[in-house]
Amino acid sequence: MVFRPDLSWEFKSADEIESRSIRAVRNHVKHLLESSPWYKNTLHGFDSNEIASLDDIKKLPFTTKDQLADHMEQFRAVSSELAVETVVTSGSTGRPLLFWMTANDLERLAYNEALSFHGAGVTAYDRAQVMVSLDRMFIAGMAYYRGLTTLGANTMRVGVQSFEMQKNYLDLMRPTVLVGVPSFLRKFGQKLCDSGFDSSESTIKKIVCIGETIRDSSMQLNGVGRILEDIFGADVYSTYGNTELSVAYCECTAKSGGHAHPELVYTEIVNDAGNVLPDGEVGELVCTTLGVEGVPLLRYRTGDLTFKISEQCTCGRNSVRIGPILGRKSQLIKLRGTTVYPATILSALNELDCITDYMIIIEGDDSLSDHVVLHVVAHATHVARISEHLRAAARVNFPVLVSNQATLNGYRGDAAKKIHIIDKRSRR
Ligand SMILES: [Zn+2]
Repeated sequence: MVFRPDLSWEFKSADEIESRSIRAVRNHVKHLLESSPWYKNTLHGFDSNEIASLDDIKKLPFTTKDQLADHMEQFRAVSSELAVETVVTSGSTGRPLLFWMTANDLERLAYNEALSFHGAGVTAYDRAQVMVSLDRMFIAGMAYYRGLTTLGANTMRVGVQSFEMQKNYLDLMRPTVLVGVPSFLRKFGQKLCDSGFDSSESTIKKIVCIGETIRDSSMQLNGVGRILEDIFGADVYSTYGNTELSVAYCECTAKSGGHAHPELVYTEIVNDAGNVLPDGEVGELVCTTLGVEGVPLLRYRTGDLTFKISEQCTCGRNSVRIGPILGRKSQLIKLRGTTVYPATILSALNELDCITDYMIIIEGDDSLSDHVVLHVVAHATHVARISEHLRAAARVNFPVLVSNQATLNGYRGDAAKKIHIIDKRSRR
């Protein structure tokens, strides 16, 4: 698929996008019935022509992560000779899942990321330093690389490397765009400042942030987002995606929500009962992965909490946007009768430069409160400051224990992703 942003659906009218989405979901279901063993079984007897409106889409069954984990082979809709790449989920929420991708899936992924970076204002004139993992079978780094090169940006696959190596390429190539994880970029930026970095002389104009939120639910930058803007003197943008979706929701230059690419994904937000929620109400992100060949999914419940915005963006796009990811639905924390989004706590902790690493352990629950303990790699003299900051920034109050890096690494075990929450509660 050659990158042609003018062919994107996003600038079509909302009505046009809706009618195209209905047709696209109908074709997707037809494809599932023909190719996917799982959906041939679960949709048996369903006629894709029954999908004539958005309400009809609501009648289709959801797909859950547990179903994927238990029946992965049945979800593969192509034979193995058509798969040209296998990617793996990060394993932060369970056992790793192996996703097959066809050549067309890789092209679709590149188109998706090219659209995302294009929306954030990245062009062929940019030089982009990609500071995330490009190996270990993860999709993210590969997706950014393919998207940026499809867009024509000069792309530096630095990956996750030492401070010295990152700085070396920064000095040699003078990138205009950085792509990375906010907490990593904050530490990198602070070390840069210690070595004399001056943002007024920097070429960096944009930072595309992945994996952690940089905004609160009112779309304002959180502490880490503000720190990144201050350190680098650059605009920060958030992008969200995951392996199962092969799609990204990336902020445009208006920075008011991540745009869906409606030709690639049909987006819904649902409550616990599975009812579709209106704009602004927080619920679980549900995605139908249009056009995927290897492991196409129908109404996939991502487990991630956010909200939807349907009104036209000031950038002119009419594609649905999603707000910041507020946490995983299964990791909502209950403290004295109120619900706390994990992202709020993680964001508050990521602001503190006195913490090297941390782990939130949710140890159990009763009817009113979960029992939460925070383990930090920090000097003992900073514990009071950490507690005070959590009370002020996240309105939470729980024990803070000084730990060491080896203990935290032990908690993570083989998890491929650097997890910061361990949930020992019985599954609710
Ligand atoms: Zn926009």
